[in-house]
Amino acid sequence: MYRRGYSTRRQGKSSRSFSSRPGKHPRRTEKALNPARFVNKAVAVGEEAAYVVKHGFCDFKIDQQLVGAVAVKGYEVPTPIQDQVIPYIMDGRDVVGIADTGTGKTAAFLLPLIDKILRNRRERVLIIAPTRELAFQIDDEFKSFVREMKLFSVCCVGGMNINRQMSELRRSYNLIVGTPGRLKDLMGRKMIDLSKFNTVVLDEADRMFDMGFIGDTRRILGEMPKNRHTLFFSATISHEIEGLIREFTKDPIRISVKTRDTSKNVEQDIVKIGLGRTKLDVLDELLKKDGFDKVLVFGRTKYGVEKISRALICMGFRADSIHGNKNNSQRKRALGMFKESRIQVLVATDVAARGLDIDSVSHVINYDPPATYDDYIHRIGRTGRLDKRGTALTFIE
Ligand code: AMP
Repeated sequence: MYRRGYSTRRQGKSSRSFSSRPGKHPRRTEKALNPARFVNKAVAVGEEAAYVVKHGFCDFKIDQQLVGAVAVKGYEVPTPIQDQVIPYIMDGRDVVGIADTGTGKTAAFLLPLIDKILRNRRERVLIIAPTRELAFQIDDEFKSFVREMKLFSVCCVGGMNINRQMSELRRSYNLIVGTPGRLKDLMGRKMIDLSKFNTVVLDEADRMFDMGFIGDTRRILGEMPKNRHTLFFSATISHEIEGLIREFTKDPIRISVKTRDTSKNVEQDIVKIGLGRTKLDVLDELLKKDGFDKVLVFGRTKYGVEKISRALICMGFRADSIHGNKNNSQRKRALGMFKESRIQVLVATDVAARGLDIDSVSHVINYDPPATYDDYIHRIGRTGRLDKRGTALTFIE
């Protein structure tokens, strides 16, 4: 239901209508998005019928070292996607996992695949991800599991020194995780021979499709043995994605953990800016309130995001930004500082923040409204992860 917006100190006396925003940057779909869709009372965690997990990590018959590594990471019980897909992957079945980031899907495919490599150290695994950040995240999780196992990965993403990746590819490795463009480039340079890879994971296939990477992905898979083990993960299943599932997998088992709207445990509200005030004034007030400890702010353009971040720093906040004009090490550093709670605010564009897994984001603030409702759902999905409560606020001028 549409109710009055979230209160800030000097809540607007009068406010302009959302749909007739006369700003300098008219947005293509802003008019189409009804602010009522940005308001939602969070469902108490645990209110809905919970999935009953059937396995412990010991029941999966994965290597004991791996069970130990899982315990060291503090994972006590498998998440629903892990509970359901791991047995099938262990059996060598192709799997279609319909799951968003935040469900534990990375470990759902990594654990059985690491086990596969431990059983045969000549086994090579390829993981294709749509964004560098997601590739880094997967690589980090892999490295955290295999610390004592003498298994190695190479992360092949664009925007990083290709010579370094080439020298890593000359050494021995068990797994490559990469983005389609850079993988293709390295294949063209004869640095990767995919005929030796029997297992592939396509992560966030729907994003891959949205970002126009399917042609490259098709070419990459075309170099792999036909008789391979394919794992396909996607948050959504559209007509096009169905086509890709048919094209890329063989008799897959389908597991969906989309049993409920992932945004339901996110308290959502609008914040009216009001006449005579700027969005920056309101952001300043909010960030000084209790509980705004780890805040992800979304801006529309790279330029705008940089400007907000600089303004916040000038105002004395610990803030940084991620967007396409920053190089990989700057993005990685900003993200690392945010994850470790060394900065309070991370300002991001939609593309840079896609699929990011950040623990305990207290608030998502839509400084600029999202272009589409789909973008909105992706943005607010950065909070309220793994059944925690979160808050998402959308600024309305
Ligand atoms: P993902 O959906 O793979 O991005 O994972 C989301 C977050 O859940 C990551 O921070 C993981 O470290 C964490 N995670 C994955 N599996 C478990 C588990 N079984 N128990 C607790 N946390 C987990």
